[in-house]
Order: sequence, then structure tokens, then C-alpha cells
Amino acid sequence: MDYRARQAAARQRLEGAGVEALVVAHLPNIRYLTGFSGSNALLLLEAAGAWLYTDGRYREQAKQEVREAKVEIPPKGDLWKAAAQRARRRRRVGMEAEHVTLAQSARWRENWAGNGKNLMPLRGEIEALRAVKEREEITAIQRAVELASSGFAKLTAKLRPGMKETAAAGWLEYQLRLAGAEGLAFETILAGGAHGALVHAHPGGERLPERGFVVVDYGVRLGGYCSDMTRTLHLGEPSRKARAVYAAVLEAQQAAMAAVKPGVACAAVDRAARRVIAKAGWGGYFPHSTGHGVGLEIHEAPRLGAASKERLAAGQVITIEPGVYIPGWGGVRIEDVVVVTERGAEGLTPTPKQLLQL
Ligand code: ZN
Ligand code: ZN
Repeated sequence: MDYRARQAAARQRLEGAGVEALVVAHLPNIRYLTGFSGSNALLLLEAAGAWLYTDGRYREQAKQEVREAKVEIPPKGDLWKAAAQRARRRRRVGMEAEHVTLAQSARWRENWAGNGKNLMPLRGEIEALRAVKEREEITAIQRAVELASSGFAKLTAKLRPGMKETAAAGWLEYQLRLAGAEGLAFETILAGGAHGALVHAHPGGERLPERGFVVVDYGVRLGGYCSDMTRTLHLGEPSRKARAVYAAVLEAQQAAMAAVKPGVACAAVDRAARRVIAKAGWGGYFPHSTGHGVGLEIHEAPRLGAASKERLAAGQVITIEPGVYIPGWGGVRIEDVVVVTERGAEGLTPTPKQLLQL
């Protein structure tokens, strides 16, 4: 990972925002800029250099991981005081408004010589850089996606009607760990029958139905990067309605993938999926957006929803995941990870998408 180039790009954005320094408080942004993966850190990025503040637990790890930043371990773990004092001569300082608490901001003001009016709240500066991935990052995401996909076949070999959702999810997660996952990217969603109509259903004591859909949405972390996939399978013989719902979601997913291209509005990709589902008669049953960026975090820029203002760019890695959820009946969602390339969408998820009946 080229931390020097990333910091150079970040410094250009600081110039554009009219600040002399940026206080980076969001850990994934700190990891992106320096390689540090610990759970407590603050980064001060200036034109002249970068300083990473952390605590004594991370002395060794910081030595191993941090690139292109000077590591400091302030006394009493007061990262905010140390960073504010370092930046005392800077007159205009940007702060990650979405990731700083009132208490942290107050601590900064107490120790900073500058006028509080020149503390500029900034949003999404580093996130905008992170949205476009380097080759090495795409490879890391691809590895995570492939590891997760390998778990799906192991799950389908095990799933039976009557199995508890928690047991099925646990078995899947165990297989992912055995295959080398560093962890889960988010809490696994595994929901059968009517429970699958809840978009973010957590596996509970429910037992999988004799006949009906099972939505499985999960992801792993590997090399720091996340994967995200959803497949919906059917236990027993699918009804005519089940086949129709599944076909509509699959067609919507393919339509959205076909709409992906650099320069295309994210909202247009969302519309492409929504149009198919509406035409099939389930327009009122698709309550979430069509996709999101994925990388160091499971949900990152860009967002692919009706209200998105962003446009796609080559090198972005996004999910495409339309769904239909019918209360009291069940849900269907199909989700792949794709790379935005000059030619369109390059799908990374190898698991087949035709209706799978167990
Ligand atoms: Zn997902
Ligand atoms: Zn997703």
C-alpha cells in the first residue's frame, strides 16, 4: 500500500479545504493513511509531516505497522492534548466532524493556541479518497470475497428444515474462520420464512421452515478488507409466487449491474434495479438502497440510493443488492461485490445466482 501517495492526495484535499492541518480521528481513515490497525489513535496530518498518537499498549504494533508518520505515545494517554499542542502554531485546522465527540473537541480547544472559530468541521475528505481503490486493495477485497463465497457451499451442504437459525449461522461462521477469515465484516443475517422479510433479521431461535426462502447475508474480514454477499435459497419446492419474486430480484440485480459505468449517477443504478421490481409488481417491497461501497469498512462511499448525489468512478468497489420483502411471507435479496471498470461492472462474487432449491 502506497501510504506516501495517499497522504499526498490527502494534503491536496486539505489545501482545497483551506486548512493547514487535518485531525484524523476515524480509525479506518488512520489505517488508510498510515497502516496502523490498533483501536486507539489520533493522526495529525500537516503539509510538513504526519504524527500518529496512540497509547502504550500499541508501542510495538505501531513500530511494525506505521509508515510515513512519526509515532508518539503521550503521557497519561492524552492523545488530544498532545496533538493540539503539536499543532499550536497552525491557524486553521480541519477536524473530522462526523467522528469527533464534543469532549474531544473541547480537549483540543483547551490545549490549542488557535482561535476556536478557525477549527473547521470537515466531512468525508479521507472517505472520498478511499472510495477509489488501488489495485492492491481490489486484490485484498477479491480474496475476502472468494473466502466468503467458499463458505456458502459448505452452508448449503448442511442446511436442513427445522435447523435453528443461530446454529446455521454459527456453522457458517465457523467454516469461514477455519478457512482463514480474520473475523466477520458484520453480524451474519440468516433468516428463514417470514423472518426473512425483516431486512436486517438477526438469527434467532427460529427454526428453518419446511418450505420457504432463507436469506443469508454475510461477510468476512481478510487483510483488513471486508467482503459482503447475500444469497437466498429455497427449502422445498418453490411456489409460483416464490419463483416470480426470485426472478424479479435476480433481473433487478442484473439490470443494476448492467447500469454500472464510470460517470453514471449512483441514483441511476438504484433506479435500474427499482424499475424492474416495480414492473414485476413489488415496487412497495424494496425499502433499502441498491448498494454501497465496501473496503476497510463494510459500508463506505459511494452510496447507491435514490437520494445519492455521487457518480461512479473507475476503481470503486461496490455492492449491488436489491431485494423484495413481503411481511408474513418472506424475503429475497441477491448481493454481489463488483469493481467499477472502464468497461462496466466486473463481478467479484463467484457463487452462482440461479434459484437454489434444497
Ligand atoms: Zn450484505
Ligand atoms: Zn451490503
